[in-house]
Amino acid sequence: MRVLTLWLIRIMGRYTVLPFAALIVVVCMIWLDLTLSTLSWFLLALTPVVAAAFAATAALAIGVLLAGVKPDTSGSLDREQARDLWQLWDKFQNTGGRVLAVNDEFNASIQEHRRFAGLFGRRVLMKIGLPLLLLLDDDAVTAVVAHEVGHARHMHISGTYKLVDFDAALDRFFEYADPHNTITGALALRAFAWLKRWLDDQIIIDRRCAEFEADAVSAEITSPQLAARTLLLVEVYGHKLSALYRAYNQELLGAVKPPRSPLLRIRDLSKQPLDWNEFWTVARELHAQTTDPKSDHPAMRDRLRALGFDEIMQLHPQMLGSRCSFLPPETIERLITDFDARWNRVAAEQLDYAGARWVHA
Ligand SMILES: [Zn+2]
Repeated sequence: MRVLTLWLIRIMGRYTVLPFAALIVVVCMIWLDLTLSTLSWFLLALTPVVAAAFAATAALAIGVLLAGVKPDTSGSLDREQARDLWQLWDKFQNTGGRVLAVNDEFNASIQEHRRFAGLFGRRVLMKIGLPLLLLLDDDAVTAVVAHEVGHARHMHISGTYKLVDFDAALDRFFEYADPHNTITGALALRAFAWLKRWLDDQIIIDRRCAEFEADAVSAEITSPQLAARTLLLVEVYGHKLSALYRAYNQELLGAVKPPRSPLLRIRDLSKQPLDWNEFWTVARELHAQTTDPKSDHPAMRDRLRALGFDEIMQLHPQMLGSRCSFLPPETIERLITDFDARWNRVAAEQLDYAGARWVHA
């Protein structure tokens, strides 16, 4: 049953809801036919249950089919603002409607959105975090973009990856029909909780495979050495930035005004020479870790091994190349100013809120 259901969703995506809805409608029709022909009190007593099931099914079918994904295209840059970054993407993928955006995360992602009930209006959105552009050298940024293109090539991206499409459509349905406040939502959640569990478990497994496949594309387009070296850099910097964000949050707790934003701290970090002793200590620690069973990301060690590197010492990113060549300096400065202002705004709101609570306490 599980294998069959997931297979069906992989093929039909959000349209898998139709056979489920049809099944419940058929059950309702049989009930109606039997009730009218026998006028049985027992069947008549089931009217509220059947009516609620029918309403929930209709709402679920319409909700899931028509749920639109509103892509967050904030930070999008046109070809004039980010010519070189666009050219880099063009080199690996240059078909269809595309949007390139830069956000403030130490991450990159690629998504596909389709309008009109998920059928037409395909648009691919690639997001690249400014911290990646500030900290990684240009070769590593190239490998990151190649990795994201790998996700698109293997159709791992939401909109194409049907399990996620269906899962996201279900989530959006529950946003409108809140299971805690509406009967329709509560009934639908009861009916589909098992499906949601299956989906979530399978999506974790698929996402891990997807990382290996995207790494392989990055290695093919660039080189296994560069793909592996980039992975190592991203993991070590990711570890460093987790500490940086933790320190920021700690400072925010006792602050009266917003502390220096993480983005400015990352810019400072990008100007400092890398401490290679610390780098290799963290790299060894990370390399010793195994995959977290709940994580959709495989351990670094497994990914490096899949690229052909059993030992991190085989990789020597000692010489980092030039940085930030893919965006003009004025665009970088504008983005830093915008993101910094946003961090400060959010922090000021948090401090106001905490202050108001303190005053009222
Ligand atoms: Zn990936």
